[in-house]
Amino acid sequence: MLNRREFVLGSTLTLLPAHRRPPNIIVILTDDQGYADTGFQGSKDIRSPNIDHIAKEGVHFTNGFVSHPFCSPTRAGLMTGRYQQRFGHENNPIYDPKDETVGLPFSEITLPQLLKSAGYATGLVGKWHLGATPRHHPLQRGFSETFCFIGGRHDYFKSETEATGREQMLPIERNGHAVPLTEYLTDVWNREADAFIRRHRNDPFFLYLAYNAPHNPVQASDKYLDRFGNIEDKKRRMYAAMLSAVDDGVGMVLAALKELKLEQDTLIFFLNDNGGPVPFNGSRNDPLRAGKGSLYEGGIRVPFAACWPGHLPAGKTFSQPVISLDILPTALAAAGVQPSPRLKLDGVNLLSHLAGQVKAPPHERLFWRTGGGVTWAVREGRYKLVKVGDAPELYDIDADIGETKDLLTVHPDLVKKLLTAYQQWNSEMIQPLFPMEGAAPKAAPAERK
Ligand code: CA
Repeated sequence: MLNRREFVLGSTLTLLPAHRRPPNIIVILTDDQGYADTGFQGSKDIRSPNIDHIAKEGVHFTNGFVSHPFCSPTRAGLMTGRYQQRFGHENNPIYDPKDETVGLPFSEITLPQLLKSAGYATGLVGKWHLGATPRHHPLQRGFSETFCFIGGRHDYFKSETEATGREQMLPIERNGHAVPLTEYLTDVWNREADAFIRRHRNDPFFLYLAYNAPHNPVQASDKYLDRFGNIEDKKRRMYAAMLSAVDDGVGMVLAALKELKLEQDTLIFFLNDNGGPVPFNGSRNDPLRAGKGSLYEGGIRVPFAACWPGHLPAGKTFSQPVISLDILPTALAAAGVQPSPRLKLDGVNLLSHLAGQVKAPPHERLFWRTGGGVTWAVREGRYKLVKVGDAPELYDIDADIGETKDLLTVHPDLVKKLLTAYQQWNSEMIQPLFPMEGAAPKAAPAERK
């Protein structure tokens, strides 16, 4: 069983009284948001007071990373706490409601499965993108309630009530049953998140609030556009409005927790799933290099914050590298769930690091890989060896966050060490189990080896 309670929070943190329920866990994920595009990341033109509140009242991770530079693999890592290359989930799945080889492999145990086993109500609101077959449905992967769409992107104003194969128009579903879309989609997610919290006010709950905003199509309603008359660039203005709708939803979540007196009983994470796809959706990743799809910092370094009033320090900046894979073990530790060693997690429980009890970095090294090794990167301390072209490049990320000065020839011994570390890690990974969305069709079954 995986539900043995082991509260080991130290003296600087408040121990949960025995009669208190385990904390709620909320993971708020945005989609294709730029690194620079929240107030707490320094944005001057996009106001996000509610998202900023999470960083202000909790911990701001200034070296916060995701495990992949695009949508679905990041979500696979987030849901499992494991490098998704370990189990072949390295590409975005082609939408196919019949192909069970495409999506989160059934070998994997998910965060909602683990929390559900420990008595949590588990809810998904928003985007799934981890497989489209009935067996891949989030209701089969640990969620007790879902209000979502199954694909990787969605129109914000229109939806079909029967799946016709057009991914962007897939039904909006409540617990697997299509419902009509009659409002701006982000407003719907916001209302459903608020309702889930209120419905489970007396339960420990896990809410995965996976916004598809501000992923394309770039669409916003007048209510939010009217807030950004000061932004002249039309696409940037639309994008800002999309994020402002998300910020309103985060505000609704925070207000519901406050009203229900659940603030100190709720651990919240906020992050984005990959860097902004500059310049396509109006996002900005300054001062980072490149964006979505790249293993330069612009693809993998994201706005990242967590708060748990009374348990995590408030107003803290945490500058050691952390990764989205850490959310699962941290959430389990907060919930008092001891993960089985059989899970072979790559993520780290951050609680003792955030409390200041452990000074060592959570990770000795972090790794990334796309396309089965077409591009890759390894980060150790301040240095990052990244291979996106013909040859690796070495950057001092602490001194050169924009990756402008290649130090490959300056530190040959370090390059050799990092290359060896990557090769060792890479030897533990497998090749992608399914091809990239948009790639050439797979060979017919008879031609497969
Ligand atoms: Ca994304």
